[in-house]
Amino acid sequence: MDYTLDSNVQDYQKRIRDFVNTHIIPVELKPDAYDEGENIADKYFLPLREKARAEGLWCLQMPKERGGAGLDTVGMAACYEEMGRSIFGPVVFNSAAPDDGNMFVLERVGTPAQKERWLQPIVDGKVRSALAMTEPAPGSGSDPLGMMLTKAEKSGDKWVVHGHKWFITGAGVAQHFILLARTSDHPRKGLTAFMFDRDDPGWELV
Ligand SMILES: Cc1cc2nc3c(=O)[nH]c(=O)nc-3n(C[C@H](O)[C@H](O)[C@H](O)COP(=O)(O)OP(=O)(O)OC[C@H]3O[C@@H](n4cnc5c(N)ncnc54)[C@H](O)[C@@H]3O)c2cc1C
Repeated sequence: MDYTLDSNVQDYQKRIRDFVNTHIIPVELKPDAYDEGENIADKYFLPLREKARAEGLWCLQMPKERGGAGLDTVGMAACYEEMGRSIFGPVVFNSAAPDDGNMFVLERVGTPAQKERWLQPIVDGKVRSALAMTEPAPGSGSDPLGMMLTKAEKSGDKWVVHGHKWFITGAGVAQHFILLARTSDHPRKGLTAFMFDRDDPGWELV
């Protein structure tokens, strides 16, 4: 079996390595580069994102027509490895969890209208996102389908959701949320994913 990466991926690998070495690792050494959550502070984050985008190293995992590079799983594995040499790397290239996984899900299962509303702004770097699945014990943890306590019930043409989530990476800055809630006791299809905007009423960060 030939494990050689194709030349396109090797080119991205090298450019990401150079970008991380030249522009990102030096920032790690600056005490003011860390925000209160130990993430990269906006003062450094936003200019680095613009630079990565200008150099064509942006959201490589998304299709070209959406603004990415259309790299496949093997190609991205090589690129993630290079990005991950700095703790700030993946987010600068818009390839970091939870946005990364959320973009994959929306790209794969969203309708065209849902992609336009919820996915494209994440790809474009205009908003951040979060996945709200886990709950305090005894709620949804390693077994979401078996343990999910958050319930969504239909009321007229709306869904009303009651529940409490925790460990939600990026919830403090996310605009778009994928929220998992129980909608039936079906053994396999009991959970539904809802799209939720930070500006929607009726929820709070505690
Ligand atoms: C860094 C970090 C980031 C995270 N980000 C997010 C996020 O963005 N969004 C989100 O929704 N969640 C997030 N989580 C939560 C993560 O998804 C949960 O921690 C994970 O689902 C496991 O749940 P738990 O920790 O509650 O473990 P538990 O469910 O309490 O499980 C503890 C242990 O018991 C075992 N166990 C549990 N139930 C059973 C059973 N019935 N039978 C046998 N063994 C069992 C498990 O295998 C595990 O080893 C994050 C967690 C971390 C650490």
